Amino acid sequence: MVRFFARPYVAGDSLAKAMEVAAGLHVERGIASTLDLLAEGIRDQETVERNVATYLAMVDAVASDRRFDGALDRPTLSLKPSSYTTSPLDLGGDARGAAQAVTRIVERAAERGVRVTVDMESRHWTDFTIGLLGGLAAAGHRHVGGVFQTRLNRTELDLDRLPPGLRVRLVIGIYDEPESVAVRDKRVMKERLLVAARRLFERGHYVEFATHDEAYVRRFLSEVVRPAGVAADRYEVQMLYGVPRDRLLGELREAGVRARLYVPFALGWPMAIAYLRRRLDEYPKMMFLVMRNVVRKG
Ligand SMILES: Cc1cc2nc3c(=O)[nH]c(=O)nc-3n(C[C@H](O)[C@H](O)[C@H](O)COP(=O)(O)OP(=O)(O)OC[C@H]3O[C@@H](n4cnc5c(N)ncnc54)[C@H](O)[C@@H]3O)c2cc1C
Repeated sequence: MVRFFARPYVAGDSLAKAMEVAAGLHVERGIASTLDLLAEGIRDQETVERNVATYLAMVDAVASDRRFDGALDRPTLSLKPSSYTTSPLDLGGDARGAAQAVTRIVERAAERGVRVTVDMESRHWTDFTIGLLGGLAAAGHRHVGGVFQTRLNRTELDLDRLPPGLRVRLVIGIYDEPESVAVRDKRVMKERLLVAARRLFERGHYVEFATHDEAYVRRFLSEVVRPAGVAADRYEVQMLYGVPRDRLLGELREAGVRARLYVPFALGWPMAIAYLRRRLDEYPKMMFLVMRNVVRKG
C-alpha cells in the first residue's frame, strides 16, 4: 500500500534511483532537485548511523556526478535533524547527537562543494534548528541554508536575526501548530510568504520560494522579484516532486526562473509513511489523484 501511494511522490527505494530521477529532471526538463532521505521516528542508534552514512554517500554521489552543469543546477541535500537522534525534541527528548551528526554531514558537503538545507520540523525543533544554523554559519559554512515557516508568528522576528547571507527557503509550514503560536488561515500564511521574501531580498539573502500555489508563485515574480530588480541567480521556486505542476514549471523555464523539486527517497517503504501521511493530511484529494493515474495507466 505504501509503495502504491508513494510512487508519484517518492523517487524510489535507493539513492541510485533518486539520482536517476534528479538527472532526468535536470537533463530532460532543466529542473534542479534537492534530495532527501525519508528517515523519521528513529528508534535506535544503528538507524542514526545508517542515516549519517547515507547522507555522506549522497554528498559523494552528487559531487561526482558529471550530468549536472553549474553549481546552482546541481542537486542540493535536504535533511531533518530528527533523523539523527533517538531522543526527539517533540517527544520531550534532548536531540542528543543530532547537532554533531548534521555538522559531520555539512563538513563533508563543504569539502565536496555540495549545498545542504536543514529542513524545519515542528515548533519543538525551531529554537534548536535556528541555533544549529547559527553555529554552522559562525563556523563559516556558507553552503548551508535554512527553512522558515510563515504560519508561525515568531518567524517575522526569527528572520530579523538570521546569519548574514543565509540561503532561506520560505514555506507556509506543514506541521499543524496551535493557534497560540501560529495562524490557521492559509491565505494569511501565503501573504506572509511575499512579505518575508521582500524583506529577505532587501537584506541580500538568496530566496527559495516554496509553494504549489500558482497564484502566489506568479505574485512572487511580479510583485516581489521584478520590483526589487534582483538577478535570476538570487532566487528560485521550489515544489515537491509528484505534485502536478508541469505547466507552471514549463512557464518558469521559459521565463528563465530556476525551479527545484524536493525529491525524497526511502531505504525501506515504511520510512516513507510519515512523509506521505503529512501530504495526505494536507491534501486528501491526493488519494484520488493516485487512483486516477493508476486507472489511466491500466
Ligand atoms: C520544496 C519544499 C520544501 C518544503 N520544506 C518544508 C519544511 O522544511 N518544513 C515544513 O514545515 N514544510 C515544508 N514544506 C511544505 C510546505 O510548508 C507546505 O506545507 C506545502 O508546500 C503545501 O503548501 P502550499 O504553499 O503548496 O499551499 P497549499 O494551499 O497547501 O497548496 C497549493 C495547491 O497545491 C496543490 N497541492 C498541494 N499538495 C498537493 C499534493 N500532495 N498533491 C497534489 N496537489 C497538491 C493543491 O491544489 C493546493 O490547492 C516544503 C514544501 C516544498 C514545496
